[in-house]
Amino acid sequence: MNIQHPTLRHHTHAVVVRHADTAVRIGGGHPIVVQSMTNTDTVDALGTAIQIKELAQAGSELVRITVNSPEAAAAVPYIRQKLDDMGVHVPLVGDFHYNGHKLLTQYPDCAQALSKYRINPGNVGAGSRKDAQFAQMIEVAVKYDKPVRIGVNWGSLDQSVLARIMDENAQRTKPWTAQQVMTEALITSALESAQAARDIGLREDQIVISCKVSNVQDLIAVYQQLAQRCHYALHLGLTEAGMGSKGIVASSAALGVLLQQGIGDTIRVSLTPEPNGSRSTEVVVAQEILQTMGFRQFTPMVVACPGCGRTTSTVFQELASDIQAYLREQMPVWKTQYTGVESMTVAVMGCVVNGPGESKHANIGISLPGTGETPAAPVFVDGVRTVTLKGDNIAVEFQAIVDDYVKRTYGA
Ligand code: SF4
Repeated sequence: MNIQHPTLRHHTHAVVVRHADTAVRIGGGHPIVVQSMTNTDTVDALGTAIQIKELAQAGSELVRITVNSPEAAAAVPYIRQKLDDMGVHVPLVGDFHYNGHKLLTQYPDCAQALSKYRINPGNVGAGSRKDAQFAQMIEVAVKYDKPVRIGVNWGSLDQSVLARIMDENAQRTKPWTAQQVMTEALITSALESAQAARDIGLREDQIVISCKVSNVQDLIAVYQQLAQRCHYALHLGLTEAGMGSKGIVASSAALGVLLQQGIGDTIRVSLTPEPNGSRSTEVVVAQEILQTMGFRQFTPMVVACPGCGRTTSTVFQELASDIQAYLREQMPVWKTQYTGVESMTVAVMGCVVNGPGESKHANIGISLPGTGETPAAPVFVDGVRTVTLKGDNIAVEFQAIVDDYVKRTYGA
């Protein structure tokens, strides 16, 4: 379910990314799209297809894969086929750098299997080859009717554009700061490339723009200007956000400010996974940014208190964690059977101080006994105290209450 965006969205052209019967719309006021990127070797078609399936099941509405070699380009149609065989129809985005002009022209099955291309104008070739190689890729996009993301990144900024902006800056009586120069170079590279693509024949509703940097304030400044200067659909993401809480916090801070200003049509959270960690975490974080800000709803949310000296056992922490994992696990099935279940809230509270009050505000709430309290856990359903759970099976019994509520409330 998608809910009303609480802010006025920056107007952008809607871009449709298609695969078979699946159509994902970016921009034009459509719900903000969650996307992600694999970190498998694309040549490993099966391993890549499995990770794409995991990302799609976690809720990624588009998945990007790197296409960096002839072998990777040759693998793309097989990946697509394997996904279709598994019933996974998420559109795939091909990420091209340096040799994209060759791969897209020499591997037409790859060009057709992909639903969208990402082209980095800083990595399409140098000197006189740059324009021709960029044009080759855009011509393929036009031929197969594929949208393109012009994806500028400050780590691979087009040096000819940067040099030109720096020269212009040197002529100013009051020169810009280095940050202003970089911002202008990023935006100029994106907009000039988009115009070049349009001159070749790509429509404005086939173009998505991104200008990624790794600093929160810089990203906000770049996108605020970008939104003032164009109506292309905007892909938001803080590049190289980092690991763990730092990556999550930095991405949330940057994207939160921009989304609140109505800027951004699709987001990707670029987290560095923990060793052996799940790649799908970036999808969960992206969804939670959108859901906690009230822009979209993906999965029932668990409200839980932080705990304090009034609850010294870990029972309520375990229950909150287990029920959150359970709700997310159920969603692939629930969302096909129970319309609106993603808006449900479940409260798991540690003691009587705020427990009953918070529980009453949730669809279902449980207030566990704090230290020294009677070992009983009152359960509230739609604000009304229904049962009191006791003993060692509270978690199992509470889960059964949640299941029953979902069937009764959201079933056909
Ligand atoms: S609800 Fe109770 S246990 Fe939880 S933070 Fe508040 S006082 Fe502490």
